[in-house]
Amino acid sequence: MSSFIRSYEEILATIDTVDVVAYAQTRNHLSGAVSRLSPYLTRGVITLPMVRDRILGRVHAAAATKFIQELAWREYFQRVWWQQGDAIFTDMRAGVRSFAQEKVPLALMRGQTGILTIDQAIDNLYQTGYVHNHARMWIAGLATNLARAHWLPVSRWFYYHLIDGDIASNTLSFQWVAGTLTGKPYDFNQAIINACSPQTQSGTYLDIDRSELLNVPTPMILLEAEQPVLPVNLPTTEAIPDLTGQTVRLFHPFHLDPTWRVGEGVIDVLLIDPTHYERFPVSSRVLDFIIAQARSVLPEVRVHVGTFSSLPGVAQATVYTRAHPTVAALPLTLDQVPQLFPGVVGAYRSFSAFWRACERFI
Ligand SMILES: Cc1cc2nc3c(=O)[nH]c(=O)nc-3n(C[C@H](O)[C@H](O)[C@H](O)COP(=O)(O)OP(=O)(O)OC[C@H]3O[C@@H](n4cnc5c(N)ncnc54)[C@H](O)[C@@H]3O)c2cc1C
Repeated sequence: MSSFIRSYEEILATIDTVDVVAYAQTRNHLSGAVSRLSPYLTRGVITLPMVRDRILGRVHAAAATKFIQELAWREYFQRVWWQQGDAIFTDMRAGVRSFAQEKVPLALMRGQTGILTIDQAIDNLYQTGYVHNHARMWIAGLATNLARAHWLPVSRWFYYHLIDGDIASNTLSFQWVAGTLTGKPYDFNQAIINACSPQTQSGTYLDIDRSELLNVPTPMILLEAEQPVLPVNLPTTEAIPDLTGQTVRLFHPFHLDPTWRVGEGVIDVLLIDPTHYERFPVSSRVLDFIIAQARSVLPEVRVHVGTFSSLPGVAQATVYTRAHPTVAALPLTLDQVPQLFPGVVGAYRSFSAFWRACERFI
């Protein structure tokens, strides 16, 4: 059972222990004061404005700016997905660069790249489903900018294992690292890893000037590559009573907020739609996490493994859910996800432009 499963009260306590000052100073270090709230934000147990407002209830906005800016990255990526749709699964800036192949380096998938910090991060990924942001950047950077693998298959492999796997954040972060989002690939080297992780290593193939990352030959160890095999083992479905005439709170893997429409539904259903997982496969660990985390905050929830239309009597029920691109096409009432910056509208070409528009609302 994942050590990340929390009661709602424990999640609130986690928010209350975020040290925004230490966060701003240490967040890039693997042992820095990061919040580890991403599994609950991704799964929609809590929302971005709720986290921000709770933190601003105890610290001054100026001290919390860096943390709020990181929350804003999440909001930015969600907005880009809503605005651009499936275009996020293709290079956002076409022609910026080319890739050598469309597979994932085997050494990366095996956690045997020879770069100890990266191999440990991959071990963490397999053991816990969570990886620190900086290690995510190194994993993505090693694959796309040194092994020159296209970001899409690598991002699909990585997403498969993440309990906080968020389609927009993951896909667009990979594009950011590979340079197809901003035009500038992310470069790094062993010195940066050493400065930001508890261990140091020398004499590796990353002992180069960081500006050389995109030009040095791909090390032998990263050359062998494969398409990842990503099988999905769906959980068993539960019996759902006939919903005809009923009011249903419909939860989904990106919406598990127990404070939403409280008292309005007579039945709570968690929809696990197999067609979604055909397109976006996840591991059994991830599915187990979603269901256990749902049960932890929604004790009455019934898990329906099937399509929306296969819910008995659903066409004659009143069904509410929270909006998300993965449920946007369903014929039901979609509540908007509360935003950090509802006053900021329109499309922004870069996060910096978006953030400049947000700053006056802090
Ligand atoms: C290659 C790559 C893949 C990623 N895939 C995911 C993913 O699938 N799901 C996911 O939630 N995040 C993803 N991120 C973003 C980021 O790494 C995680 O949100 C963060 O590491 C989660 O840890 P935390 O909650 O301790 O973050 P904190 O640093 O404590 O930040 C608080 C919250 O702000 C948001 N946030 C912080 N940094 C980012 C960021 N760079 N981009 C988007 N949101 C951010 C998250 O919701 C996070 O929980 C990815 C980043 C990279 C580089």
